[in-house]
Amino acid sequence: MARLGCSSVSLFRAGLTCRCPRCGRGHLFSGYLTVVEQCASCGLEFQGQDAGDGPAVFIILILGFVVVGGAVLFEVIVSPPMWLHLLIWTPTTIGGSIFLLRPFKSFMIALHFKHGLLRTTDSDEGA
Ligand SMILES: [Zn+2]
Repeated sequence: MARLGCSSVSLFRAGLTCRCPRCGRGHLFSGYLTVVEQCASCGLEFQGQDAGDGPAVFIILILGFVVVGGAVLFEVIVSPPMWLHLLIWTPTTIGGSIFLLRPFKSFMIALHFKHGLLRTTDSDEGA
């Protein structure tokens, strides 16, 4: 039986490395955002995980702060033409979203694991 909520792996390490939140060795994703059904190293089941929109919300808030703040600061200090703003901030927004989504989803799954919110097949029966 899988132990829920017991881990020596830090949330940030599990998130940044996109590894299993319990053992820290098994890969969490089989594709870009496809979560594996089970950890190949310790056997922790992930098919019941539901990170939902949590990672996207954090990324929207963080990137929004960075991009809007950076654009305003850049405009006030340098006053560049609009095409330069588009050239800088469009790839920053798109690239930042793509780059951050995977570690944030991993972090949310690790957070769910830490608080015992990973649903197992046993706990789904009552839901
Ligand atoms: Zn594992």
